[in-house]
Amino acid sequence: MQHFIDVILPVPLERLFTYSITQAESEFLKAGMRVAVPFGKSKIYTALVFKVHQQQPVAYEAKEIHQILDDAPIITQTQLTHWQWISEYYLCTLGDVLRAALPNSFLLESETIITKNNDKTINDADLKDEEFLVYEALHHQSSLKLHDLISILDKKNVFPVINSLLDKDAIVLQEEVYEKYKPKLVRYVKLNSQHSESGKLQDLLEELSRAPKQRDVIMTLFSISAQTKKPIKVSELSEASDASPAIIKSLIDKEILTEYHLQEDRVAYSGDPNEASKTLNIHQEKALREIQQSFEKYNITLLHGVTSSGKTEVYVKLIEEVISTGKQVLYLLPEIALTTQLVSRLETYFGGKVAVYHSKYSSHERLELWNNVLENQPKAQIVLGARSSIFLPFHNLGLVIVDEEHETSFKQFDPAPRYHARDAAIVLASLFKSKTLLGSATPSLESYYNVKQGKYGLVEITHRFNDVMMPDIELVDIQDKRKRKRMTGHFSDRLIEEMTEALRVGHQIILFQNRRGFSPIVECTTCGHAPQCPNCDVSLTFHQFKNELRCHYCGYYTAMLKNCMACGSVELDTKGFGTEQVQDEAQELFPEHKVGRMDLDTTRGKFGYDKIITAFEQKEIDILVGTQMLTKGLDFRNVKLVGIMNADNMLNFPDFRALERSFQLMLQVSGRAGRTDERGKVLIQTYNPHHRILHQVSTNNYAEMYLEQMDERHNFKYPPVYRLIKITLKHKDYNKVNIGAEWYATGLRQVFKSHILGPEFPPISRIRNQFHKNILVKIPPQQSLSKTKKAIVKINNSFLSIKEFRSVRVILNVDNF
Ligand code: ADP
Ligand code: ZN
Ligand code: ZN
Repeated sequence: MQHFIDVILPVPLERLFTYSITQAESEFLKAGMRVAVPFGKSKIYTALVFKVHQQQPVAYEAKEIHQILDDAPIITQTQLTHWQWISEYYLCTLGDVLRAALPNSFLLESETIITKNNDKTINDADLKDEEFLVYEALHHQSSLKLHDLISILDKKNVFPVINSLLDKDAIVLQEEVYEKYKPKLVRYVKLNSQHSESGKLQDLLEELSRAPKQRDVIMTLFSISAQTKKPIKVSELSEASDASPAIIKSLIDKEILTEYHLQEDRVAYSGDPNEASKTLNIHQEKALREIQQSFEKYNITLLHGVTSSGKTEVYVKLIEEVISTGKQVLYLLPEIALTTQLVSRLETYFGGKVAVYHSKYSSHERLELWNNVLENQPKAQIVLGARSSIFLPFHNLGLVIVDEEHETSFKQFDPAPRYHARDAAIVLASLFKSKTLLGSATPSLESYYNVKQGKYGLVEITHRFNDVMMPDIELVDIQDKRKRKRMTGHFSDRLIEEMTEALRVGHQIILFQNRRGFSPIVECTTCGHAPQCPNCDVSLTFHQFKNELRCHYCGYYTAMLKNCMACGSVELDTKGFGTEQVQDEAQELFPEHKVGRMDLDTTRGKFGYDKIITAFEQKEIDILVGTQMLTKGLDFRNVKLVGIMNADNMLNFPDFRALERSFQLMLQVSGRAGRTDERGKVLIQTYNPHHRILHQVSTNNYAEMYLEQMDERHNFKYPPVYRLIKITLKHKDYNKVNIGAEWYATGLRQVFKSHILGPEFPPISRIRNQFHKNILVKIPPQQSLSKTKKAIVKINNSFLSIKEFRSVRVILNVDNF
């Protein structure tokens, strides 16, 4: 009988590929192990075994695998099932999912180095034939690699031999990855054994009598080790004895001290929990009970709790319960970088059990966490992470929490898989027969609709913690203020009044403006020309600090112009304003106070956010200007005033979710005000003080916003009533995109008759020199989703098989955000 494996290759090709394997390999290989396989003319890829079977492929001759890379699966069966769901639901390949899921270092080939164990003498007679061959080879060569063994033994599955040699203590293994993976090592020292015998110490101290500093080091070492009986770090010793590392080095050189290294986890956190979780107040207590009851009936429950109602403390109680049963918890957050506060809060309760999966971590750090989760280690029992943490190899996931579930950043935009982490996490939890808790002060229409449809349970907290009142929200008509000359730059007299008062009594202020840079448009007052990005169809944003014009779509930048490019006039005017301008104006209005800024431009780098958040917490900043980064779950105790500089650019954004988004953003940023005792104040500046959404924000009326927005979604056939698949065609040739999109839409209309919108150019139709054209497929509630997707895939395949369209990039985005 012949044996085969189907593998997932990390390439965007639709199907799995079949390779042939031997009988022995088929007994060894399991789904979820990696193999190296030849692909294409001469490439070797790391592939993942999906299935072991006996069916010869019909269309092609199966090639042999190159090498087996794991001796146990690194991907669980549950993950493979989850990946399949993602690939089917979001119309992408398993290869796309594989790429997104695995830390990069897994896709490199792992090289195991085998050396002889010199501490043990092995009698040749105790070795089987194959073991002997390997052992014999190690007499001639100090180390062997996997592929050496493969040629020595003339077979690909060499792990059983390695394992039995390991059992006999004949060899030692060293794992090394091509991209050098080095666990972080910490330097330790101990006394050289010849000095540590009793009686020898006195001699040593005498010997060092003329080097008092070195002598001190030895004394300190002795007293520490007498107390702790633990290994002693060089850094620790240097600090305790007040000796420079150079002095310790000289003791090592003299062979009085011996240096050694121990591995330390990169992503290690301060050891033990140091605080019991908080006692819940009656509203939280009630919510906790209701959630537990709700879970008896529903797999998914939405916790709708106003800002600062203490949702986090409720999550903490649920987590305590789940981890006491030994199960794992996944706590999803929209942007991990913004949640330093939450991380340290959870660490005080759960200590080293909290692990963070961070997009800014290196792939090695992620690999470490991956292995900890895979091995079900206590130190990764609670995983806190942004969207990609749904790909971790959980073993017995007991609970998923999705905090700020309304955040659109849970949806991956580019590249494929274009998944929604909240929805994919719900599916993941269901594979473990576990529950999901969604939490928000401003739930997405999608989730609330699911509650109304009877799919999710609902629990509410309507009181803020300590019964602090919801902030007082006041709308300021800036059209009127302009007319009456009550504006100073972009600040109304009301805002200046409130700011002056807040600063006088020592409160902090947040100013929200949803645009970065200084001003988004530079215009010539003589001819009206506005400088555009050469690669995209957008005006360049002026950044005053660097005196540059920048494109926010492709990153293009150039020095600010002195003259109009069209007519040469020197009279250039700026229109619109961003965070940079707000910061400048605020500083001018309040010169004695410190004004800070938090946006994409000020938070680059691994700890960019932390620095600003900490400075604000420490009151080193009085006024913090920022973009929507400020809205996400931050807890600043001393902020009493929030100013929203301009509500209109949010409300007028061309997107069917714009009003829902505006409501969420404004309420979330308002929620940063007055979180402790006194009532907070929020000022919203707008040209449309009668806008319905602004009234709903100022009265915190989620229910009304929901009903009105759902009406619109019904009328215009948008989610969550209809489902949406957005098809985007991209090409640098304008005509190709146009003709291609027409062809595609015609194909769709033949199948679906109605509910196809477009093709249409988006508001920004060219980005990075690529023209974009969109087609929207709206799927009525009663229409089968899977049949619809099948039809789309079919049309897509025929489209891509037409020669002239082959170079057009097609992007399928399911549940477009
Ligand atoms: P939310 O996530 O609902 O906006 P938080 O969980 O951040 O609210 O809670 C708001 C504030 O109230 C935090 O500073 C938190 O420490 C405090 N808090 C919440 N619940 C309790 C409690 N039971 N005991 C003491 N302080 C609490
Ligand atoms: Zn001009
Ligand atoms: Zn650009």
